[in-house]
Amino acid sequence: AKNAGKNQLATFDPEMRAARLEHSRLTTGLRHAIAQQELTLNYQPVVDLNSGAITAVEALLRWNPTGGKPVRPDVFIPIAEETGLIIPIGLWVLEQACADARRWHEQYGISVTVNVSGRQLRDENFSDAVLTILRRHDLPEQALVLEITESMMLATTTAETQRLISVLQALRDHGVRIALDDFGTGYSSLAYLRTLPVDILKIDRSFTTALTEADRRQQTRAFTKAIVELSASLDLRTVVEGVETDDQAGMLQQMGCPLAQGYLFSPPAPAARIDDLLQSAPWR
Ligand code: C2E
Ligand code: CA
Ligand code: CA
Ligand code: CA
Repeated sequence: AKNAGKNQLATFDPEMRAARLEHSRLTTGLRHAIAQQELTLNYQPVVDLNSGAITAVEALLRWNPTGGKPVRPDVFIPIAEETGLIIPIGLWVLEQACADARRWHEQYGISVTVNVSGRQLRDENFSDAVLTILRRHDLPEQALVLEITESMMLATTTAETQRLISVLQALRDHGVRIALDDFGTGYSSLAYLRTLPVDILKIDRSFTTALTEADRRQQTRAFTKAIVELSASLDLRTVVEGVETDDQAGMLQQMGCPLAQGYLFSPPAPAARIDDLLQSAPWR
């Protein structure tokens, strides 16, 4: 009887009830988001710190429900993952990103970076779908980078991890590059670096922020420099995320970090804005 009372209490907790309602409202909305043309992609430039050239753009998904307010990816991506909707949505993202990137690659030689979630990587059709989409848009494999996180590889058996690694390896054999996103935020980043087939390391924004914070800057600078150097000695390209100030950019350049991304250069922006930036080359 005691337990029943507890459960009832949880069920009628107004806050939890509201959260559950919101969750199911978003799930329903997300189910129709593609058909209703509510999804768009923004792109954020990745900039060469030495030359100021744009070398790549990262596709970042946006959801504007009809007649509602935009929903943040931090909110809707987890729901898309839970419900499996990330599979069709992820394919839509790849399709759109490759369509937009073709011209950019042809004219400026830049690559496009797409975030993938664990659920997509676990789908047995994933690598075939990626290669088919590339061919459909006549985009060379070398022009695509897939971003993964170490947390995607966690919480699985060794056999499952091995399978995911071989999916990544197969894509790499075709020329698609793999970036390890949010590096430095997990528990076992260094160990993963040894086992994962990656080409690019993206140092998490928390490092960039702490570079100029009074209490932690000394330690953060030492850490960041060590990661940049380790990365270079492993023949990985390093991108540092969340660069917002000239100070940060200067410091990172001095450490030998080749590439950066952040509001200092540009927030994620519609494709048309990327066309302008590629043409005007404002940081060269
Ligand atoms: P992420 O992949 O780590 O993307 C970087 C996030 O940092 C983006 O947030 C970007 O807008 C933001 N950002 C970039 N520069 C700066 C800066 O200088 N300062 C600050 N404060 N923030 C900066 P966004 O677009 O809200 O995306 C959040 C997360 O949602 C992404 O984190 C990624 O994990 C996920 N996501 C976005 N699009 C997709 C997608 O198409 N597929 C999947 N699976 N996940 C996606
Ligand atoms: Ca990313
Ligand atoms: Ca990131
Ligand atoms: Ca992230």
